[in-house]
Amino acid sequence: MAIRLFNTMTRKLEEFKPLVEGKVGFYSCGPTVYHYTHLGNLRTFLHNDFLKRMFLANGYDVRHVMNITDVGHLTNDENDSGEDKMEKGAARDNKSVWEIAQFYKNEFLRDYNDLNMLPPTVMPHATDYIKEQIELVQKLEEMGYTYEIPNDGIYYDTSKFVNYGALTGGSLSGNRAGARVDFNDEKRNPYDFALWKFSPKDVKRQMEWDSPWGVGFPGWHAECSAMSMKLLGNHFDIHTGGEDLSRVHHANEIAQSEPITGAPWVNLWLHYSFLLDKSGEKMAKSKGEFLGMDAVRTRGYDPMVYRYFVAMGHYQSQLAFSWETMDATAKSYANLVRRVADLLSAKDETVDTDVYNKWRNDMIAAMSDNLKTASVLVLVQDFAKSDEINNATKLALMNFVDELLGLQFVDRAKKLVLLEQEAAPDEIVALAQQRAEAKTNKDWGMADSLRAQIDAAGWTILDTKDGYKIVKKV
Ligand code: AMP
Ligand code: ZN
Repeated sequence: MAIRLFNTMTRKLEEFKPLVEGKVGFYSCGPTVYHYTHLGNLRTFLHNDFLKRMFLANGYDVRHVMNITDVGHLTNDENDSGEDKMEKGAARDNKSVWEIAQFYKNEFLRDYNDLNMLPPTVMPHATDYIKEQIELVQKLEEMGYTYEIPNDGIYYDTSKFVNYGALTGGSLSGNRAGARVDFNDEKRNPYDFALWKFSPKDVKRQMEWDSPWGVGFPGWHAECSAMSMKLLGNHFDIHTGGEDLSRVHHANEIAQSEPITGAPWVNLWLHYSFLLDKSGEKMAKSKGEFLGMDAVRTRGYDPMVYRYFVAMGHYQSQLAFSWETMDATAKSYANLVRRVADLLSAKDETVDTDVYNKWRNDMIAAMSDNLKTASVLVLVQDFAKSDEINNATKLALMNFVDELLGLQFVDRAKKLVLLEQEAAPDEIVALAQQRAEAKTNKDWGMADSLRAQIDAAGWTILDTKDGYKIVKKV
């Protein structure tokens, strides 16, 4: 099936053409592990997961590399100034840099797993690829792309790279006014960036390495060029990241890589729009206050509700987060789980293959058309409500939806059925009987009040054609 994706480089929706038939290799910029990952970062990672599942549904062999940034990302990454985020995070938590890297990586992996994202094929850490990053800088040095700023570091001379900034249409001046305002006047050009930073003379850094230029650490952009080339080759299919990365980080990655690999280095650039916080701004770790999966879990939401919320948006549009929207999303998710739970008891039918294939293809087509996850969800509502599709086919389709969108409907429905099999305690059974009598007497006020009491105790009455059923609330 034809796959179309929006390529930031050409600013066009393009048909995807793999470098090797039936295979796709993609690199995603991963988290900087100096703090908890927030819901915005996780939105970006969820879109990677939808991308991967779309390729798998189309029968591709997927090689996905996502890095862990554990060194070199400075607080002001537009100017290569400020503190190393990792060293700053370690001071905040009163731990070593290595300890916080391990801690926040584990927390990230917990969220990743709770959100049912498929693991990357390889998850390299920047600190494990220092040798490759030094080699990259050496090659650029040999080719004449670098210069040294004494007591600061080795810099990339962007004037040597004609296509610098092509990803953002070459219009950097408007986008990166900050780079001009805070212009480090020792740089030859405003957008030049650090490839290797020297350790400060007066402060002992926790993470530093020897290099041909002296003790120091790599610039943040070097890791993604070095690791992607090492793990995916000199020319690969797709590179992804949040929308903020295109202007600086990815522009710099291209400038570092293409002199070595020859253009184009990456065939398609995919950028995901931001998750906004309640004030309408980008959710950001640097703002100190941000929401992560802990907030979602503590408020009692199933992590799948956040996944469903992200799937209802499109990767090219910003998405505003609010608890009100999460509540509405939780209801829709629970309704679908309820429907699947009802399907689980329908064992007497067989799957209608033609009907199954038609809906399955429609869903793959929606995903392949620029990752329209929300359109898949509309199809799900349509087939779930249809009177013309038998239950066994609906259940088979729901299993496929779980593969395609990873929303775990069937798993949650099975858990719901187990909960429903739990017998209600005597006092709840008694209240339910009183409610049934109140209904027979048409005393609706009393029936409603008894239902509310049952509800408050954590149980729900489902009216059925044979009477009623008492089930545990989920
Ligand atoms: P970081 O941990 O800051 O290196 O970011 C990890 C990934 O999350 C990168 O691809 C960022 O572009 C992305 N990202 C950061 N903030 C947001 C946000 N508010 N919404 C969506 N993606 C984001
Ligand atoms: Zn990166």
